[in-house]
Amino acid sequence: MDYHLKNISSDDSPQRNNVKMLILGSGPAGLSAALYAARASLEPVVLTGMELGGQVSLTNMVENYPGFPDGVGGQDLVDLFQKQAEKFGARIEYDAATKVDLSKRPFKVQTYNGEYLADTLIIATGAQATHLDVPGEMELTGRGVSYCATCDGWFFKEKDVVIVGGGDSALEESLFLTRYVKSITIIHRRDSLRAGVILQERAINHPKIKFIWNSVITEIIGDETVGKVKIKNITTGETTELPTDGVFIFIGHKPNTQLFADDLDLDEHGYIKRTDLLTTGIPGVFVAGEAGDPDFRQVITSAGMGAAAAMQAIRFLQASEEKQSEVVKS
Ligand SMILES: Cc1cc2nc3c(=O)[nH]c(=O)nc-3n(C[C@H](O)[C@H](O)[C@H](O)COP(=O)(O)OP(=O)(O)OC[C@H]3O[C@@H](n4cnc5c(N)ncnc54)[C@H](O)[C@@H]3O)c2cc1C
Repeated sequence: MDYHLKNISSDDSPQRNNVKMLILGSGPAGLSAALYAARASLEPVVLTGMELGGQVSLTNMVENYPGFPDGVGGQDLVDLFQKQAEKFGARIEYDAATKVDLSKRPFKVQTYNGEYLADTLIIATGAQATHLDVPGEMELTGRGVSYCATCDGWFFKEKDVVIVGGGDSALEESLFLTRYVKSITIIHRRDSLRAGVILQERAINHPKIKFIWNSVITEIIGDETVGKVKIKNITTGETTELPTDGVFIFIGHKPNTQLFADDLDLDEHGYIKRTDLLTTGIPGVFVAGEAGDPDFRQVITSAGMGAAAAMQAIRFLQASEEKQSEVVKS
């Protein structure tokens, strides 16, 4: 990845670009939006952000994206998305939005390298799973460390896995994983769970699930794939090791949307509020993928939302052009 991002200092004069459609984010949502907009000859510009290809580029193998019966590498998949969008005229810029002004059209988006004035904006800035930030986690992500049971459960058939977290999503995902795995050990930093009572009962009574309380993982260890975790009991200070085939981390999920907090309505978790047609409170600004989706969070759903948001933006541009030409005529 070759980033040339720099902050614009006061004596730099930012390069100003007028574009019909600006897409923030180069994950499945952003690149799918780019493909649809490019095929409508809008010459969309995609700002990649810091993570070219988005979250899925972090994983070794994707087996639930249709069209790839043998699976496809996460990075390979988004490379193909990018290539297809560029083939039709999308421009990919290794840059990120740093400030937006959505108070009027064209929308003003400041970036590390310049400034864009965009007739329409698609926000596809995605989200990030909260990390444990322990040694081994980053190195083994996609090789036993996972943040998504729907994505990776299949890889752990008849395996022993560890789950970190004690909220609703940790227990929901654990119960989902019981259909594949041999055993689940939930490691939780407190002596009680935060999840709803019914979920707690189901998890506690499930024969495949057991708990280690008052404990945290301090290291994930493995060569090619995860082999074991180091666990510290935070009340006694005792450290132990537990062999495991996988570590699922469910301690939170944060959309990358703070940049829009002054202009758009966000829900209590930070997801951009949107309609079913992917419109936001501001005409001409659309949202696609995980930035506005707390529910599905998959490559296919994000890509689908990207395509739909681009179709909406194309319709919006057409309608506003027709309106303008009527004003000129009258
Ligand atoms: C390790 C891992 C494995 C996964 N495996 C699977 C799987 O097997 N199958 C599956 O369906 N799903 C999987 N997922 C989930 C899937 O990756 C996401 O649902 C999907 O990537 C969401 O797409 P998105 O485009 O909405 O956002 P993201 O992929 O999060 O992309 C967001 C993009 O926005 C950019 N961005 C952020 N801020 C800015 C800014 N200020 N300016 C410009 N750009 C910005 C980022 O750089 C990035 O390019 C996995 C996720 C992870 C973390």
